[in-house]
Amino acid sequence: MLTKTPQDSWSEFLEFIHARCSATEYENWFASIRLLEGNGEEICLEVPNIFVQEYLLENYKKDLCAFLPVKHTGEPAVFFSIAQSSRKKTTTASSVVAEPVEQQAQTNDLKLNAFYTFNNFIEGPANQFVKSAAMGVANRPGKSYNPLFIHGGVGLGKTHLLHAIGHHICEHQKKLRIHCITTEGFINDLVDNLRNKSIDKMKRFYRSLDVLLVDDIQFLQNRLNFEEEFCNTFESLINQGKQIVIVSDKPPGQLKLSERLIARMEWGLVAHLGVPDLETRVAILQHKAEQKGFRLPNKIAFFIAEHIYHNVRQLEGAVNRLGAYCRLMGQEMTEEMVQTSLSELFQFSPQKKISVDNILSSVSTIFEVRVSDLRGPSRIKGIAFARQVAMYLAKELINDSLMRLSSSFGGKTHSTLLHSWKKISGQVEKDEKLRRQIDMARRNLEA
Ligand code: ADP
Ligand code: MG
Repeated sequence: MLTKTPQDSWSEFLEFIHARCSATEYENWFASIRLLEGNGEEICLEVPNIFVQEYLLENYKKDLCAFLPVKHTGEPAVFFSIAQSSRKKTTTASSVVAEPVEQQAQTNDLKLNAFYTFNNFIEGPANQFVKSAAMGVANRPGKSYNPLFIHGGVGLGKTHLLHAIGHHICEHQKKLRIHCITTEGFINDLVDNLRNKSIDKMKRFYRSLDVLLVDDIQFLQNRLNFEEEFCNTFESLINQGKQIVIVSDKPPGQLKLSERLIARMEWGLVAHLGVPDLETRVAILQHKAEQKGFRLPNKIAFFIAEHIYHNVRQLEGAVNRLGAYCRLMGQEMTEEMVQTSLSELFQFSPQKKISVDNILSSVSTIFEVRVSDLRGPSRIKGIAFARQVAMYLAKELINDSLMRLSSSFGGKTHSTLLHSWKKISGQVEKDEKLRRQIDMARRNLEA
């Protein structure tokens, strides 16, 4: 009697799958899997990365069991080995990826802002982590965090970092094919190619990239048809070990996108870009002034940074305006002059006088703990947690140096404050209840 070899069973499984899923799904998820070895008891598959393994087990466990050996527990007796080198494109099965790609002069296509480099990005506690993640990706595209998902408020340097990654890779790994695009650009591309019936060409282009940099993914919300194509492109690239960086104004979980895409975006590293603290804002102002060819006295830089505090783009606007004003009026820079020339900008960011006392009292009400406990040394879980929330809010809402803020918490160090801020910042993204509590405290304080 003829018995089936593991290769036969594997081929039968692939045939079965091929007939049931779309060509894109097959190409993205199955074409790169190789049968390494096997016998009647178990088999070993080589996959390009852990995502393929998880995808297979999550979605096709029953079918694996039907075609391949099964353990006594009922689980498929399949072992996985992650391919070592970044894989070359497999030439199995059909379609989009295997065809030759028109080479394009990538630097012409790469519309990167020349000023948005790592050198021009000023570091501080609120952006250090994101910057080092971005540098990690730029140094080893496809091999460190993939995808890298950067999110944060308006004007805080997200696009700057995205372009900095592009510049760095372009400079150090000239052969890599990089494409930097806004989500709107991707949608327009798709519309144009659909209209011109050149969609295959577009797919080939995107799927042949080594690095895809995508800005403002929030614009993909409510664009169902485009979302699916984006997701397919995403999966195809990731499964070939190609680097993807995505920028957004919200964390993945808060975007109104399909669960499938959100899960993909959470696969790698999700990094939050915060509002720079006072010292960083001063350093940014001085750096921008230097680039414009003038020196900003410390006192003036602090004065501006104390008034404009939630948007780096506004800081930049202030420097530009100030430079122009000084040139036109031929005046020395004084605080009064700064106030006159920037009064409009300052109006847009009225300074709320929130104090640590206000925050403690608001947090004590919401978390039902005593203010004296929040100030004290208690390590009881509920109290310590509420204290961390208060520290988080202090850093977010009060425009003062970390050193001074932490001293208002009964002599805590500034690294304790920073630690609390990081911890709560991370948690607030995942924890709906905490987010609501913090929003409530904010509204209460800002009212
Ligand atoms: P976003 O994309 O988050 O809205 P951008 O990347 O466009 O913000 O940044 C707005 C402006 O602020 C840009 O000119 C950028 O160079 C500048 N900027 C933001 N953060 C920094 C920083 N840490 N150091 C220097 N410049 C910064
Ligand atoms: Mg931007």
